[in-house]
Amino acid sequence: MQALGLSLRDNISPAPKFLSNATPQSLTSWPSTQNPSKLVLGPSLTCRFYKSLVWMNQKPGWSYCRTLRVRCSHNGQNDDGFYMRRCVELARKAVGFTSPNPMVGCVIVKDGEVVGEGFHPKAGQPHAEVFALRDAADLAKNATAYVSLEPCNHYGRTPPCTEALIKAKVKKVVVGMVDPNPIVASKGLDRLRDAGIEVVVGVEEELCKSLLETYIHRMLTGKPFLALRYSLSASGQLLDLLGDRAVHGGGYYSRLLQEYDAVVLSSSLFSGNFSMPSSQEPGANQPIRIIIQRNPSSSSQVPFVINEVTGKEIIFTDNSTVIATEMTQQGVESVAVDQVNLDVVLDYCYKQGLCSVLLDMRGNFSEFEDLIKEGIEKKYINKFVVEILPVWNGSVKTESLIPLKSLEQAVKVVNLQCKESNQSVVIEGYFK
Ligand SMILES: [Zn+2]
Repeated sequence: MQALGLSLRDNISPAPKFLSNATPQSLTSWPSTQNPSKLVLGPSLTCRFYKSLVWMNQKPGWSYCRTLRVRCSHNGQNDDGFYMRRCVELARKAVGFTSPNPMVGCVIVKDGEVVGEGFHPKAGQPHAEVFALRDAADLAKNATAYVSLEPCNHYGRTPPCTEALIKAKVKKVVVGMVDPNPIVASKGLDRLRDAGIEVVVGVEEELCKSLLETYIHRMLTGKPFLALRYSLSASGQLLDLLGDRAVHGGGYYSRLLQEYDAVVLSSSLFSGNFSMPSSQEPGANQPIRIIIQRNPSSSSQVPFVINEVTGKEIIFTDNSTVIATEMTQQGVESVAVDQVNLDVVLDYCYKQGLCSVLLDMRGNFSEFEDLIKEGIEKKYINKFVVEILPVWNGSVKTESLIPLKSLEQAVKVVNLQCKESNQSVVIEGYFK
């Protein structure tokens, strides 16, 4: 790659000159591909390296810098799946940021080459199609647009993407899945077809649905997707422990905190040097921490540092519990209810626009007993994530499966998946 980098630098032609205070008339008027260096990596994969201009708004005017970009294209004909998988890959760049909106990726392909890419970065920001069309500029004309979710056809905080695709004169739109949102549901596809655009639906549909499992669940049920996480010893007892590297960047626990919009914790966790759990993934949007507070004596131990890095904290408490005055003065939100249960917590999260909640069973397990029982009986718990640590009884603090003993209802679980996490094994599955 070193030699390649050198030869590319040699090939870069002089950049166009602009007045230092000139503002570019239109960012999209500049071609995004200039003299690409082509590298064939195999019979079905080609990469093109090219420079592009990136504009920066610097006082007193605009300036630009050159960057090296790499785009890979699949050489096969009609390989819609390849581009759709790229859409999903792009969409996942915004994991943890988009709720209540879905993660969406878009790729514009012309003559077997990717000419534009984009994803929806955050609620309130433009949708994936808009970024991809901007990237493709004039090359979008007569191109094929791949989108992991049906393009919207309504005016929300941004104009409809169907109109943007029609205006850009794309020839064909390939969609991963129909949007379950009733205000979209197939209307976007109809609008595109009415405009004479060829539409294909259902490419890599299961992958796209898996990407959006929490969004789909929220849309169809009016409740956020709920996952239960806990740890077990190799001898099958509950542990108040996480694997050595689980909390570090790349660890499964750190990734869960990046992925889920909120994490429910017991206030019993907050003693000694316990710090608020946070994702260590680069640039992660920290989940809202929901603390179940049933023991008045532990309230003063809950850390209450609120800023952009740590995220928001909310304490759910029953009316008989008094929240420490110092915490409310610090802006920690508290929700006092007659009885803390999942109905209350999930309704609150739904109204906050959250798509997913992680019930993290740590600390005093008995505090979770009612919640888990309710979650199973009312079918609120959709998924479980269990870490099995390489320890046997006696070496660490363990508790037998008391919270789960009260659960007499047999529940079938499906789609079990197993992965290694350092020296632990993490099993995921879904309640049917
Ligand atoms: Zn849209």
